[in-house]
Amino acid sequence: MKLIDSHCHFDFDIFEPDRAQVWQRCTDAGINQLIIPGVCISQWQRLAHLVDNQPQWHAAAGVHPWWVSKNCEEERDYRGEAELGRVLAEHLKQNQCVAVGECGLDAAIATPLESQMAVFKIQLEVASDLQLPLILHVHRAHNEVLKLLKQYHLPRGGVVHAFSGSEQMAMEYWKMGFYLGVGGTITYSRAAKTRRTVARVPLESLILESDAPDMPLSGRQGQRNSPENLPLIAAELAALRDISLQEVATATRKNTEMLFSL
Ligand SMILES: [Zn+2]
Repeated sequence: MKLIDSHCHFDFDIFEPDRAQVWQRCTDAGINQLIIPGVCISQWQRLAHLVDNQPQWHAAAGVHPWWVSKNCEEERDYRGEAELGRVLAEHLKQNQCVAVGECGLDAAIATPLESQMAVFKIQLEVASDLQLPLILHVHRAHNEVLKLLKQYHLPRGGVVHAFSGSEQMAMEYWKMGFYLGVGGTITYSRAAKTRRTVARVPLESLILESDAPDMPLSGRQGQRNSPENLPLIAAELAALRDISLQEVATATRKNTEMLFSL
């Protein structure tokens, strides 16, 4: 069995003490590739260095909505200006990044949606220009994001990471070329709607993700999440769809390879 973690913040400091050991356990468990999203300008270069000698780790670059107004001073200078687009496009090209992101809209944070929208639109333009897929973070803002996606020509589509929502919403994204990222949420019995959705949508639309170090699995709240938990998410998806683990592994790996041209 071979699995790809399509969304893992493996560059974050929390993995610094034991990153090599975690990766060893991942490969032992059949997880053999990682997609590591960008979150802010000052992190892109460090991430590029990290994946440099690791052909199985693939970097993306983008500005996450949570970072639009915190931590990275650079964002403030670039926000809403062509400068961010230029710097982002340059970085993506020079570092063979596989996607733009993670980016999107989050209506549950203090940063006003208009500020988030300005930074998001720049990234939509870059993804369109460079014909790269998008890694989307969408929280309580599906209508706003869907409306924006319709305004841009995005030939490579993307993924709605950590998708949670109805089957109808999922299919709206899928019809526009966006895969659905399936993570630890489905291990919680209270996530009934999302569990029902991932059981019903086409298997061709699903990819697996840990979102580590966030999104701990049910029963592991408060612990650091890890990409090595991916087989547990795959097993849950297999159970929900009443198919074999092998089928889930084969299909989601193929979907992830297609999306990111791995
Ligand atoms: Zn993320």
